Amino acid sequence: MTIRLRAHHLLCLLTYVGKGYSPAFTANYDVIAGRLAAGEDILVVGGPDDICAPMLGDAEPHCLCESVRERDRLAADDVAALLGRPITPGVSLKLRNADLHRMRAAFSSGQVRAACVGCEWNTLCNEIAGSGYRGARFCSVAENCGDLHPAGKI
Ligand code: SF4
Repeated sequence: MTIRLRAHHLLCLLTYVGKGYSPAFTANYDVIAGRLAAGEDILVVGGPDDICAPMLGDAEPHCLCESVRERDRLAADDVAALLGRPITPGVSLKLRNADLHRMRAAFSSGQVRAACVGCEWNTLCNEIAGSGYRGARFCSVAENCGDLHPAGKI
């Protein structure tokens, strides 16, 4: 199985701790974080993705805004430079342990934060990064997150 993700959600996943726009949004996000932690592939998409899905019934979902597409462009550039592989719609990738740790380090240092400028969640994401990603639900085998994702870990 494959999870469809827009580029800036590659960053948002790092600091996802179960908080979000609505109970339906976080319930869906929890499932996605667990599936990714269990090793499912990512398909990079342009525009709304599997994380956005619960929002798309809203009258004017922000997922469709040009500002969010710009967030995708900025995140794609940063993550592509960091991982040394293209992050464009249609690309498949799997984030393994080493990738997660590189992305976390780059996120904490600000190296991949261009997409975060102006985001309403920026303060929370800074706190999670500052805590060493405590409580992050997209987690690695070294973090003993099996209670969150019993199906597996990356
Ligand atoms: S600040 Fe916003 S764009 Fe950046 S990781 Fe957090 S939620 Fe995602």
